[in-house]
Amino acid sequence: HDVAKPCISFGHFGFDDRLINAIIKQGFTEPTGIQRQAIPVALSGRDLIGVAKTGSGKTASFVWPMIIHILDQPELEKGDGPIGLILAPTRELAHQIYVEAKKFAKVYNIKVAAVYGGDSKADQFKELRNGHVEILVATPGRLIDMIKMKATNLRKITYLVLDEADRMLDLGFEPQVRSICNNIRPDRQVLMFSATFPKRIEKLTRDVLNDPVKIHIGNVGASNSDIEQHAIVLQDDTYKWHWLIGNLVKFTVEGSVLVFVGRKAGVDELAQNLQQAGFDCLALHGDLMQVERDRILYDFKHGNKKILVCTDVASRGLDIKSVKTVVNYDVARDIDSHVHRIGRTGRAGEKGTAYTLITQKEDRFAVDLIKNLEDAHQVVPPELIEVAKKNPR
Ligand code: ADP
Ligand code: MG
Repeated sequence: HDVAKPCISFGHFGFDDRLINAIIKQGFTEPTGIQRQAIPVALSGRDLIGVAKTGSGKTASFVWPMIIHILDQPELEKGDGPIGLILAPTRELAHQIYVEAKKFAKVYNIKVAAVYGGDSKADQFKELRNGHVEILVATPGRLIDMIKMKATNLRKITYLVLDEADRMLDLGFEPQVRSICNNIRPDRQVLMFSATFPKRIEKLTRDVLNDPVKIHIGNVGASNSDIEQHAIVLQDDTYKWHWLIGNLVKFTVEGSVLVFVGRKAGVDELAQNLQQAGFDCLALHGDLMQVERDRILYDFKHGNKKILVCTDVASRGLDIKSVKTVVNYDVARDIDSHVHRIGRTGRAGEKGTAYTLITQKEDRFAVDLIKNLEDAHQVVPPELIEVAKKNPR
């Protein structure tokens, strides 16, 4: 195999001036580690698995080569379906990728569209049907609906991206992802990106990707060491509330705060209690209507409110500059989810802080958390080691 060489400046990618200018306009001065390695491989046409820490610019690693890929296509009849397809696990992430892709695609008048659950099917249908879309960002379920309605088709797709594929499996989208992949021509290029690469995704990878190049930047699944992590060991759940209200003012002075809670009902309850205690906060989970989800995220992104209490619906991929603190009020279901949750801060070289409240009964999680802290060069408190000792394994 040809081995692609790493590129150390945007000029080395062979992009034309318009794309370079659009990149510089974003304030980017040099490519990130994953961009240096992944972009040449993506441009070479090979399938690719890219694993790199949260906030390291994975989106651009697949968006920029996708634009080049589209520009390289012969003049095809417009309106016959997209050429590039990006699948993402959540609506919010699909929207964010859409916004990011549009910044660069618009330079070339490449049309980008997004379809995801919750928003009007009729509007999305119209946009796809009449819009001559070349790049489509979608959540798997809604894309299948759109295909059934004949709003679009997969005939012209030659560049497919699975962003946060492991999360799509966790959410039970594997059948949809497979069905979409099986209906795309076999000589397509497929790229997969995440900060974690659990074993359970290997089967899908083998079935969907063709002899992929694997690029791992840093330890697979490791947390970004720009995030200062604190594990707070508490006797039981009743101490969590006091810890939180005792620290929240300090956190909001630093910037915006994301508070992760295990269950949807727990989100509403904690948000209500915080409101009553005088903290103006937002609550986000998957049971809300999409318009509400959009409004809440908009308010949070624009700093209208500085505290967002949420479930894992907000744990993947979201890039909100103002988030300086992440609190795991309840521990994540597994260490990969933990990595993604705290990865909402410490992005693009910025610093951030994450607090994980852990109780005596969470000995299993404590074992994994210790390894996570060690890998990310963080302090492991002795109380945490005590909790982990209770684990029999
Ligand atoms: P990831 O998918 O790896 O978690 P994102 O693609 O969301 O990360 O990018 C994180 C942030 O870094 C975004 O705000 C993005 O605009 C910014 N970014 C991307 N590439 C660069 C770069 N080369 N230099 C500086 N910032 C960048
Ligand atoms: Mg991402």
